[in-house]
Amino acid sequence: MKMSYIVAIDGPAGAGKGTITKLVAKDMGLVSIDTGMLYRCHALAVLKNNISITNEKEVVDILEKIDIDLRNNDNKQLVFLNGEDVTNQIRTPEVSSIVSQTSTFPKVREKITQLERKIGYKWLKEGKNIIMEGRDITTVVFPDAKVKIYLDATPIERAKRRCRQNKKNGINQSFEEVLQSIMARDKNDMNKAVGALKKAPDAIYVDSSKSSVNKTKHKIIRIIKQKTNEGKRSVRNDNYKKNIKSNR
Ligand code: C5P
Repeated sequence: MKMSYIVAIDGPAGAGKGTITKLVAKDMGLVSIDTGMLYRCHALAVLKNNISITNEKEVVDILEKIDIDLRNNDNKQLVFLNGEDVTNQIRTPEVSSIVSQTSTFPKVREKITQLERKIGYKWLKEGKNIIMEGRDITTVVFPDAKVKIYLDATPIERAKRRCRQNKKNGINQSFEEVLQSIMARDKNDMNKAVGALKKAPDAIYVDSSKSSVNKTKHKIIRIIKQKTNEGKRSVRNDNYKKNIKSNR
């Protein structure tokens, strides 16, 4: 029987993880999971409940009181907060400016990591291959993933991309503001005590700074094919089997 596999992708804000992951998923028939949406949804709940981001207890406790649900609709991922579709609300500059802080607390990370694993194993059990992107997927959430990629680009290039994305979404922010926000987020994300953004030693480094979306997509598809067509049963796959059983 063919085992389902996980493709894990990490990288900084604006490296193209979201775009590339969705395109690769579409081409290869994988289920794509954007874990930033879960952290953003939690940050939105913090804002909606007027919780101060320095109040660790309340930032953590709100997770017990809310329901975060990811749904895949035609290769588009939607996120629901207590039954309300908040897919657009989680992209506002207000959420972007606090999410790297609200996601710093180890207890928040623990809960969202559990949720990510639950979502991943649910699809694996259904026989689907998944591609999950975030900051700590290759290092913490699924360190045994069959394919591990670190997708990077220079801060300037990432800010340019985010500006184009913002324009499309009707968000008005200057290039300077976007660049500052990206650099502040990098700093926070790379210095977290738990789940810090870093390249796993066995992840493949892909720099998308000078590549078109199409070129990067094909590069990643080639890597996935290489890694999953090895024809050998790997120890990692056996680990999945055990994990799938223990998560039943
Ligand atoms: O990917 P995106 O930019 O939407 O993620 C928003 C924020 O959520 C990141 O800046 C990071 O602070 C946090 N995050 C995280 N771990 C993940 C995914 C996102 O800490 N796996």
